[in-house]
Amino acid sequence: MINFVGAGPGAPDLITVRGQKLLQEADVIIYAGSLVNPELLKLARPECDIYNSAGMTLEEVIAVMEKAEADGKMTVRLHTGDPSLYGAIREQMDLLEPKNISFQVTPGVSSFCGVAAALNAEYTLPNVSQSVIITRMEGRTPVPEKEEMSLMASHGATMAIFLSTGLLEPLKEKLLAGGYTEETPAAIVYKATWPEERVFRCTVGTLPETARENNITKTAMIVVGGFLGNSYERSKLYDPGFTHEFREASK
Ligand code: SAH
Repeated sequence: MINFVGAGPGAPDLITVRGQKLLQEADVIIYAGSLVNPELLKLARPECDIYNSAGMTLEEVIAVMEKAEADGKMTVRLHTGDPSLYGAIREQMDLLEPKNISFQVTPGVSSFCGVAAALNAEYTLPNVSQSVIITRMEGRTPVPEKEEMSLMASHGATMAIFLSTGLLEPLKEKLLAGGYTEETPAAIVYKATWPEERVFRCTVGTLPETARENNITKTAMIVVGGFLGNSYERSKLYDPGFTHEFREASK
């Protein structure tokens, strides 16, 4: 059995209870070395074989899984955050399936949630935005034309932008082209939930210089939108004058 496990955003105690148990039981662990906190590997049994996938190809990863499976072993494939976002798990699953190797997924806390926590922020404020757009700038991986950054920005929704810290000048231009202004609040969060976490609040206009001045070039998330500002409406859910399924309005 192959267990794809979300490692969480960084802090080792932000893995799920299930993920932690699987790490403790694993015979083989293949972890995404660039972003998974190595502290998590201390959970492994002494006899566990541990591989860092940073220097491996997809085929090499699958070969390790196949060998483990033939030996009747349990493999944990440890991905940063939640494996469903930029995790490249589908291509692994599609190679395992024809080999009749079974697999299952244990979700994780995605870094965009760790980033909100670092900012003490709520992404979905009434009258500000009720949607979160998770996206990235085009890099070596293409982004479909319909999802081009300025089109995404044109919604004016909350945006969590992954994998784009090295592209802040073009990102800024696209955000402005989409209708955000130089003054729209933004933040750069470096290594959310890690001991070295750093939070920089800025605006769309100052994104590139904020990163430059603080030497932030990778492992950061950019978030943009009015949710970082100060005006919003109170929720209906906790409004004293609002009746709902679980509570009568007070007079
Ligand atoms: N599956 C992961 C994302 C992997 S893509 C998840 O759910 O979080 C890698 C990108 O995620 C990085 O380029 C960065 O933009 C973001 N990222 C990962 N960990 C982060 C962290 N602790 N703080 C800020 N951004 C992070």
